[in-house]
Amino acid sequence: MSPETTMRPLKDFKLNVSANTGFQKVFFSVRCLQEECDTAALLSVEIAMSKSDLEIENAVSSLVERLERQERSFYSMDCSMHGMMKTGVVDD
Ligand SMILES: [Zn+2]
Repeated sequence: MSPETTMRPLKDFKLNVSANTGFQKVFFSVRCLQEECDTAALLSVEIAMSKSDLEIENAVSSLVERLERQERSFYSMDCSMHGMMKTGVVDD
């Protein structure tokens, strides 16, 4: 079974670029589709805030890739693993 993604593609994702520079942490949640498990996990990635539009675009695509990788690893775990990480954070 290959579950449909529950993670919205980040097509509506907008970086809120303020005067602050440095790193911004973005969180995204995924949820196991097995009803008896129903584990939600928090994915997080940190991105450097860049100045040019192009750099920001590149940052967003690498962000999406990292989130998708984390999402895949979440779904590749079985539910006994999910149970152990119910409140955990999936690291890169
Ligand atoms: Zn599960």
